[in-house]
Amino acid sequence: MHTVDLGSFGVYVHWPFCAQKCPYCDFNSHVRPVLSGGRGGVDEARFLAAFERELTYTAQLTGPRTVGSIFFGGGTPSLMSPATVAAIIDRIAGLWTLDAHAEVTLEANPSSVEADRFRGYRAAGVNRVSLGVQSLRDEQLKRLGRLHSVADAKKALDIARATFERFTFDLIYARPGQSPVEWEVELGEALAMAGDHLSLYQLTIEPETPFAALHAAGKLVIPDADAALALYDLTQGLTAAAGLPAYEISNHARPGQESRHNLVYWRYGLYGGVGPGAHGRVSTSGQRHATVAEKNPERWAALVEAQGHGLVELTPLDRDEQADEMLLMGLRLAEGLDLDRLAAIGGVRPSDAAIDHLTALGMIERLSRADNACSVGPSLDRTDGNSDHITGCLSPRTGASADWADVACAPAKACASEAARPPVIRAVGSGRFVLNEIVRQLSASFEPVR
Ligand code: SF4
Repeated sequence: MHTVDLGSFGVYVHWPFCAQKCPYCDFNSHVRPVLSGGRGGVDEARFLAAFERELTYTAQLTGPRTVGSIFFGGGTPSLMSPATVAAIIDRIAGLWTLDAHAEVTLEANPSSVEADRFRGYRAAGVNRVSLGVQSLRDEQLKRLGRLHSVADAKKALDIARATFERFTFDLIYARPGQSPVEWEVELGEALAMAGDHLSLYQLTIEPETPFAALHAAGKLVIPDADAALALYDLTQGLTAAAGLPAYEISNHARPGQESRHNLVYWRYGLYGGVGPGAHGRVSTSGQRHATVAEKNPERWAALVEAQGHGLVELTPLDRDEQADEMLLMGLRLAEGLDLDRLAAIGGVRPSDAAIDHLTALGMIERLSRADNACSVGPSLDRTDGNSDHITGCLSPRTGASADWADVACAPAKACASEAARPPVIRAVGSGRFVLNEIVRQLSASFEPVR
């Protein structure tokens, strides 16, 4: 049987500080005054102690797990010292079982990359770095408010390539005035320097950002929906031709080089989130909960010091909520969403009429499992206690609960019997840009599964 260990429990660590706020950014990132000899005025020792305490609390919530991925996101985690990163990884390894092949990713900004620091992260246990390059045009980097130059980015990529087993970088496209020809040339340059993974995001105008104010005043015009779709389709063609097809709306990889951590989110797995503003999905006593931490870094640290964690929400998710979340996540993936998995987790199935309607509109399509080589989704091999494995064909038994851990695999016979109504759906065409609407329609049609 084909077995892929996806390490379906992940830990997300949010470092909320940046050297400067980019005008398009709505992440939970905070600029702190730079103190002479200090790191942006951040009391790193205090935050490390708070991370360690919140990790301990999170492990109490989740119980024993095998951690398949750790992701340091932000903010700008490459402003952390390697010693802090090492201490956090060590604490995670002490609280849970850290898979010997765990993917450990750290986001870095090219302006904060130094070879020594990268070597320090590597020694700490980071094996994958994600660089926020954003553009290969200096004038565009300035417009995006970035502190680095194209030369900085290329140097950072060279160091990343030489230091880590895996690296990836982000670019933003569909920028104001960007023509398809300009993007084709820039993307071609990016593909020539890419490793096995690339993230390509369209510029979006997020509320309450400086870009939103400019946009509202008519001073920043981004491509309209048709132009954005044309750029998107161009992107899909060029990346696929280069051997880096999309496996998610904005993420591209050679097969097998996908971000394991992000697949945890999109496949609706479980993950702990620690740090200011971090979100998590944890299962306690068989019930899936959503966690949300206080966003303000200093208030978060004070909460952790007072009560052992900085959570402001620990909310049980009912099965309908889980089904909606799972749809929204799963429809992002090229592999699509298995409706039997949805039934096992959420206890519901969208009506055939709703699926047929959206299919006729060209927004989704059905896939048979054979198209996916029966290789995706969770059926759990629990022989090791908690390690989540993906094993062959997926057909969870009905009546399953809110945790993958309780979903058993019905093996290969399910794969061979679904010609009439293929059980996997995925977003296609313009549907990839209106996932909320697709989820709304499918969710309204949910029928309980007996
Ligand atoms: S560096 Fe990243 S997280 Fe920080 S402000 Fe810019 S886009 Fe946001």
